[in-house]
Amino acid sequence: MIAATAFAGKKVALFGLGGSGIATAHSLLAGGAELVAWDDNPDRVAEAGSCGIPVADLRGIDWTLQAALVLAPGVPLTHPKAHWSVDLARTCDVEIIGDIELFVRQRHLLAPDCPFIAITGTNGKSTTTALIAHVLQEAGRDTQLGGNIGTAILTLEPPVNNRFYVVECSSYQIDLSPSINPSAGILLNVSPDHLERHGTMQHYAEVKERLVAGSDLAIVGVDDPWCLAIADRLESAATPLTRISKHDVLAQGFYAVGTQIMHADDDATQMVVDLADISTLRGAHNAQNAAAAIAACTAVGLSTDEIISGLQSFAGLQHRMQPIARRGHVLFVNDSKATNADAAAPALSSFPRIYWIAGGLPKQGGIASLSNLFPHVAKAYLIGEAAPAFAAVLGETVPYEIAETLDRAVSHAAEDALLDPDDEPVVLLSPACASFDQYKNFEVRGDAFVQQVGALPNVTMLVDPKEN
Ligand code: ADP
Repeated sequence: MIAATAFAGKKVALFGLGGSGIATAHSLLAGGAELVAWDDNPDRVAEAGSCGIPVADLRGIDWTLQAALVLAPGVPLTHPKAHWSVDLARTCDVEIIGDIELFVRQRHLLAPDCPFIAITGTNGKSTTTALIAHVLQEAGRDTQLGGNIGTAILTLEPPVNNRFYVVECSSYQIDLSPSINPSAGILLNVSPDHLERHGTMQHYAEVKERLVAGSDLAIVGVDDPWCLAIADRLESAATPLTRISKHDVLAQGFYAVGTQIMHADDDATQMVVDLADISTLRGAHNAQNAAAAIAACTAVGLSTDEIISGLQSFAGLQHRMQPIARRGHVLFVNDSKATNADAAAPALSSFPRIYWIAGGLPKQGGIASLSNLFPHVAKAYLIGEAAPAFAAVLGETVPYEIAETLDRAVSHAAEDALLDPDDEPVVLLSPACASFDQYKNFEVRGDAFVQQVGALPNVTMLVDPKEN
């Protein structure tokens, strides 16, 4: 655990007692803060109280005495409406921060030069974060992985020189970290998402820009107009910048030409790595993620050989376009995380011949936006509540069956794909739907897929079904 000592002897209020809130409370207490914590959910308050965290309703405290309000990232700071604890703090000019900010201040106190890579973007954050951490670990670096990816940042080991931090940051977390200053900050892309929490695209992009603006080196994907404008602004402000592109040749930076990642600088242009044989990094979106990872690992001192070797051994993240098995010439891919049409698009565009398992609890908009990718679909196997609506969209253009359940879909898709003369037909679970009609969450749905594929005859698993 990292003891946050920046508030030693000072009064601090904390709101939001989920997993990261509890970790933050323990960190502040260990650092000597006089803490009082609260949550709108009485169960959370009771649990915090039972593990030694002082709790009290923050409506009843003297806000003029508080040095800070530490907010859990899930609690609205601005949109749709500031939380009541935020209003109370603002009335008394109390600063409002989150756990990433506490880490940033502790790093500043203990080891300001220890490498800190922070990653944000609308899509690809977790993949890029996990990839960078993997490359560093494989290269023998002392690596700490956390943030939005699942491990609360203050539960990591404390900063020391030569310890590398790889931290995924959501916009909410950046909003709560005014002095975030990574050694290398990555902004992958910006597209409309979570606007209910940020109000406008303008504000959403501004929050993301803050992460790279504060970085020693800013690494920015310039494939969307928002990020391109941000890169241009950083360049005008003379912030050290590396540009990334998944489809444009750049005069300087890392960019993809097909599966090849190129590096251009003043001296020369050369290929760094060809991703063609790395099955976990297929598709243009992964070229963006890999290029950003290469730029960041280069910035913190890894050699090209160390980076290539780490990329090659990356196992991929569970449920995100993850190759899980082979059966004859058929590849099975788990993309259960694709809970809407936009998220399913990368997988559908990454494979030319697909036996597509889709459906679940339908999201607004359905799958009509994917119609340009339907030529990749040999046949669709539709499950869950969305099946009739998806069938109506596929209509005459794509063969489909209403399989209803995942196990039926797996067995029929596997049978059909085996007879396909294509070089590498793919049975793909990329549902474009939430899972809640049939499963607890997308992880459970993906695990069920892995189990069912594992039970097919003559299958070679690429992952361990027990660990998946
Ligand atoms: P995040 O953490 O930002 O939600 P993930 O790395 O978990 O992103 O990836 C979620 C899904 O988003 C993947 O399954 C893939 O379909 C898609 N994706 C991944 N990287 C990118 C990218 N760079 N651009 C667009 N989509 C991406």
